[in-house]
Amino acid sequence: MSAGADDGGVGDGADRTPSPRADVCVVGSGPAGALAAHRLAGAGADVVVLEAGPRFDFDERREQQEEFIRPGMGDPWEMGGARDAYTDSGRGYPLNAARVKGVGGSTLHWQGMVMRLHERDFELESRHGVGVDWPIDYEDLRPYYAAAERALGVAGAADNPYAPPREEPFPLPAFPPSHSDSLFAPACERLGIDMHSVPNARNSEPYDGRASCQGYGTCKPICPSGAKYTAESHVAKATEAGARIVDHAAVQRLVHDDAGETVEAAVYATPDGTERRQPADRFVLAAGGVENARLLLLSASELYPDGLANSSGAVGRFFMDHLFAGAGGQLDEPTRQNHVGFNTSETHQFYDDTDPVEGMKLEFLNYAGPSPVMQALGAETWGEELLEQLQASYGTHVAMGGLVEQLPDADNRVTLDPDVRDDHGNPVPHIEWSLSERTRGALRRANEIQHAILEELGVDVEWTVGPEATGPAYHQMGTTRMGTDPATSVVDADCRAHDLPNLRIVGSSVFPTGGAMNPTLTIAALALRVAESMAESV
Ligand SMILES: Cc1cc2nc3c(=O)[nH]c(=O)nc-3n(C[C@H](O)[C@H](O)[C@H](O)COP(=O)(O)OP(=O)(O)OC[C@H]3O[C@@H](n4cnc5c(N)ncnc54)[C@H](O)[C@@H]3O)c2cc1C
Ligand code: SF4
Repeated sequence: MSAGADDGGVGDGADRTPSPRADVCVVGSGPAGALAAHRLAGAGADVVVLEAGPRFDFDERREQQEEFIRPGMGDPWEMGGARDAYTDSGRGYPLNAARVKGVGGSTLHWQGMVMRLHERDFELESRHGVGVDWPIDYEDLRPYYAAAERALGVAGAADNPYAPPREEPFPLPAFPPSHSDSLFAPACERLGIDMHSVPNARNSEPYDGRASCQGYGTCKPICPSGAKYTAESHVAKATEAGARIVDHAAVQRLVHDDAGETVEAAVYATPDGTERRQPADRFVLAAGGVENARLLLLSASELYPDGLANSSGAVGRFFMDHLFAGAGGQLDEPTRQNHVGFNTSETHQFYDDTDPVEGMKLEFLNYAGPSPVMQALGAETWGEELLEQLQASYGTHVAMGGLVEQLPDADNRVTLDPDVRDDHGNPVPHIEWSLSERTRGALRRANEIQHAILEELGVDVEWTVGPEATGPAYHQMGTTRMGTDPATSVVDADCRAHDLPNLRIVGSSVFPTGGAMNPTLTIAALALRVAESMAESV
């Protein structure tokens, strides 16, 4: 076979033929797949990671940053197009803003706020009669949360009186509160609202071979210094430990044995259209909250006409995201917003409230107000007058954001669109997503608290994002939920498919409920827990 044929038409000469033998085949190289691959390769397993997207060169990150900062905001991660096609209905779901397909997954683009779920998140049904319980509790995940914080390099402080119990310190010191946090502080104190630090997966000092934060403020979507954690770190560590990473290898379907008891191979396609078959003893599906479900549905067979691992009918159902709630306005003094660009304070004070039961965490934003470049481009004036306008609006805004929990609903779901195909000829995912009246009520409550704080601060609230204008936080959860009952869930407490014991699923698709904390620390903790249990039998 020529080098061109080996590299699947990419033109980089890299071998994209299957490995002759693999103990474990991991699908996807986001944080879930990369952490699992690293842990398993470290334990001596022969690991192959198949990643649909390209590998981005770290040396180009400054150019990508420049491309992003310039007016018009280029997309540095090639999100969208036929490869990432999808359809939606209901409220509409902007999937291509919500994920990145490439080595490192969505952490290439993410913000990097990383909190542990609260104890109540694992027990919503028993405590409050809503949602469903997880088959594991906080104590089961607690040591893995600590390991995940070390892996990602979390900067944080033990100043959050509402956080679940922890004994071990964060690996890195917290970032100091931003200037606008210091404006919020007296208002919050007068109202009896506790502010505390945000655990951030970005280096407050050099850590794990990566630089400390330089304060560029372009974290989402680009950190050119490497201070913000991306799963590329664990892809590199996995490679060092002996894992093989095959990029541009989009898995088309998983194939089971004749008896339908185990997965035998992952069939992947390279850009030249060649399909190849990667056999392995065990499989870890880590393709993200939408693609995990889609791949199982695409893997339907005669024996499993409704899709693989789907005897419950739950694959694709219970799709959830966190809802954004926010409000802001202008102050009569400099707020220094938009200078750094990541949040340093939030409050979890209302998270465990029962009226409403939906969890909510409120954020003190550090990037409020219009960008001067965009404002200048849209202005109707020139010269001195424009300059005055820019000076009056730049660095004088202040805002609060927040995440609100969405409870699982079987009608919110990912299915295969029968009419639209991707670049490989596969049906694209179709996302049906709507909000219940409960969720709307929780959003209104979040807005109420945000307004009270802003008004106490002396801000004339100029905008509010509540139930009508809300959008997702880009955390796709629930579509391959975990549970003890194979009739109602897809994977068990060890993230093992009830129907096919050599298939594990990792990522937020296994969350039975989503809480209101950003999900990736929990994704990482679960991936480490799954890999540890698999490593025992390597
Ligand atoms: C703008 C933005 C901001 C965010 N901010 C935060 C935040 O502050 N905190 C937080 O906790 N989370 C945040 N997130 C979410 C976070 O990025 C995700 O939770 C996390 O990356 C999910 O990890 P994962 O490994 O499960 O999936 P992903 O990171 O999505 O990785 C999945 C990988 O699988 C690959 N793949 C998909 N299909 C296939 C296939 N068929 N074959 C082979 N490979 C495939 C994809 O290309 C991708 O690389 C943010 C996300 C976005 C988009
Ligand atoms: S502020 Fe820090 S983490 Fe964000 S882009 Fe700049 S260096 Fe990276």
